[in-house]
Amino acid sequence: MLNRRQFFRNSVMAVAGVSLVEWLRNPISSQAKANEDKDTVTIIQFSDAGQKLGPTRVNRVRKTESEWKQQLTALQFEVTRKAGTERAFSGQYDIHDRGLYRCICCDNALFSSDTKFDSGTGWPSFWAPIAKENVRTTGDSSLDMSRTAVSCTECEAHLGHVFDDGPKPTYLRYCMNSASLKFVKHG
Ligand SMILES: [Zn+2]
Repeated sequence: MLNRRQFFRNSVMAVAGVSLVEWLRNPISSQAKANEDKDTVTIIQFSDAGQKLGPTRVNRVRKTESEWKQQLTALQFEVTRKAGTERAFSGQYDIHDRGLYRCICCDNALFSSDTKFDSGTGWPSFWAPIAKENVRTTGDSSLDMSRTAVSCTECEAHLGHVFDDGPKPTYLRYCMNSASLKFVKHG
């Protein structure tokens, strides 16, 4: 038989133990979100087969310009790290194969072929990202235009822009650069 004091202490430890396990299992809990600082972000992970693996808190990917230049082609660097735009119809992703589009810089899952549509613009176009957590949008007033730029949450790679003239069900058109994407074909 436990006396009252032991019982109380064991209960407190049990509660603490349970919350720790919950915290480990749910890294996207409101507490974790509140603690999210500029060095970490929460993204939704996906397997190469497109299966949703759930939220994960990861370190932001930060590299120097020379490190990015070593990893990327000149075009990939210009688009993702300098917010450039590839020539229309010059990219490699005028395709409709089933698969997953990852970030060319950090492999973060960005888009699925399930939301890809033929926009006729010459750039790969999607009506939604694979998970809203995985991309960020920011105002872009460059080139005397008012646009919304889209970037990778994990490494801040510039991906393209989003417009509100897309198809159902979102009416959004994520106009992406092929150079910022890496296609992983489903088997
Ligand atoms: Zn990235």
